[in-house]
Amino acid sequence: MTAQPPPAPAGHVTVLGVPLDAITFDGLLAQIDAWIVADDGLHQVCTVSPEFVMIAQDDPAFMQVLREADLCVADGIGLLFAARYLGKPLPQRVTGSDGVPLIAERAAREGWSLYLLGAAPGVAERAAQILTERYPGLRIAGTYAGSPAPDEEADIVARVNASSADILLVAYGAPRQDVWIAHNRAHLETHVALGVGGTFDFIAGTVPRAPRWMQRLALEWLFRLIIQPWRWRRMLRLPRFVWGVLRHGEDAAK
Ligand code: UDP
Repeated sequence: MTAQPPPAPAGHVTVLGVPLDAITFDGLLAQIDAWIVADDGLHQVCTVSPEFVMIAQDDPAFMQVLREADLCVADGIGLLFAARYLGKPLPQRVTGSDGVPLIAERAAREGWSLYLLGAAPGVAERAAQILTERYPGLRIAGTYAGSPAPDEEADIVARVNASSADILLVAYGAPRQDVWIAHNRAHLETHVALGVGGTFDFIAGTVPRAPRWMQRLALEWLFRLIIQPWRWRRMLRLPRFVWGVLRHGEDAAK
């Protein structure tokens, strides 16, 4: 662990009410390191996509969770376009899918332990196994599919706390995972909790991730639509996001 203060995020841009931190993967890892060293309670990280922003327009409780999170990273190319359009470009797309392996790599070196919560039964276990093979020395404090249902919360919090994990990764999809973390924040004893969406599925290989060329061309959404066509309804939010940013212009940045 380093004792140096982390590079504070270089600023932020607010897109349709959601604050996004101008941070890179390196900055995120440094921030996690600082939180673990500081040992001052749980810090919440949200990996925000345009879809999150649109859900938050209609869901004030989710908007509040995003606004109160310690860090909101831009996990979605549309947010980078929006930030640039608003005159406050973000340095990098910081996705949960790329971030989790980087966190695991750093965790193996630093001795941080991870708890993988969520996804279908067996998926978190498979993802944990793949990560420990890839990053020898990685400590997985626990895995559990569980569910975001309120009546399971106390049991899940007890499991996570009993594991003494440093970092909790929650894969219940948005907005449930982020609301779940915020709701249990006062009782969770990990240093950091991140909502990671479909990341365990990608690592375990149960859902393929878009090839790099499609990611580079900002077409990851199209790939997801092709392999998970039932998402079409959810994806109608994307044109609404573009329209909202264009229509509100500077207001969108307030
Ligand atoms: N999931 C879950 N319990 C639920 C709902 C979803 O474990 O009640 C998991 C699902 O299996 C998947 C993850 O949540 O692994 C998130 O999926 P998705 O790709 O929809 O994430 P998003 O696009 O919302 O980030």
